[in-house]
Amino acid sequence: MRTLAFVLPIYNEQDNIPVLYERLSAVAASLADRFTCEFVFVDDGSRDRSLPAIRALRERDERVSVYALSRNKGHQVAVTAGLDVADADAVIVMDSDLQDPPEVAVALIEAWEDGADVAYAKRRTRNDGFFKRMTAGGFYWILSKLARIDIPRNTGDFRLMDRRVVEELRRYPERNRFLRGMVAEIGFDQRAVDFDRDARHAGETGYPLGKMLKLAADGILGFSSFPLRVISALGMILAVGAGVWTVYLAISRMVNPESVVEGWTFLAAGMFLLGGIQMLMLGVLGQYIGRIYEEVQARPLYAFAIAESGPRDPH
Ligand code: UDP
Ligand code: MG
Repeated sequence: MRTLAFVLPIYNEQDNIPVLYERLSAVAASLADRFTCEFVFVDDGSRDRSLPAIRALRERDERVSVYALSRNKGHQVAVTAGLDVADADAVIVMDSDLQDPPEVAVALIEAWEDGADVAYAKRRTRNDGFFKRMTAGGFYWILSKLARIDIPRNTGDFRLMDRRVVEELRRYPERNRFLRGMVAEIGFDQRAVDFDRDARHAGETGYPLGKMLKLAADGILGFSSFPLRVISALGMILAVGAGVWTVYLAISRMVNPESVVEGWTFLAAGMFLLGGIQMLMLGVLGQYIGRIYEEVQARPLYAFAIAESGPRDPH
């Protein structure tokens, strides 16, 4: 029988865990004739009664595994830890606050059975506050303009990944992790499954503004070199503009010595010229730093979707 693992990052979700477990168990029961399920709870240094709650679940249900990080390391790291330990034919990552309805997993599994390597849950509607919707909307708009690869919009980390995608993910050693971008980068057959995102069941968000900004920075800086290229572009504009201005001043002075070009004009032109050249050179440095950055990210260059070689099996 094929195996499924649910990776469930937990940060202060004590009141959500029992409901989450009930609903997951119901989903697992409905799949029981085809799949064996495992629930990988990763406690990300919760300060409430979450850890005892999941340990209690493990006491009575062997499908539950409990991993507790030594301290709060952040959602992306908690999910990474879960993906590193999950050993299943497909892994489903979802939030533990029931914003990602466990029942949607069934649709993700259908897509997987249909041949998808990644089935990501795409929010048709979302039940978040105005502020969250606006900032998320703005972020994904910028990301779609800047990122080198297509990172699906309105999509969180709620997704199913085939074993081979999870194995690829383990080859990404970068420390500042934006998982949804990394999965997009990996490739293979990726499909969207629409769903309506619920409101948080109980408790409060573990993503205050600071963590949200960090995630946004990891998304943009990890998948775009645009901020670096902006420096050279600005420098170029400034240097060329100031250069033209200087030449114009010099010529107009020569052609018409009467024209009043005061000394400070040349100073100003020179200043812009130098500033522009400096920015241009900063941009050059930036290009090298960008390359160093890519080298230390040390992402795999490729993944084989198909690798057939040697003598073929006689059928
Ligand atoms: N989470 C985590 N570590 C953190 C913050 C959040 O593991 O430092 C988990 C949290 O328990 C939940 C998921 O990540 O399962 C999404 O977090 P949350 O619902 O608080 O974020 P929001 O939906 O408000 O963006
Ligand atoms: Mg949430």
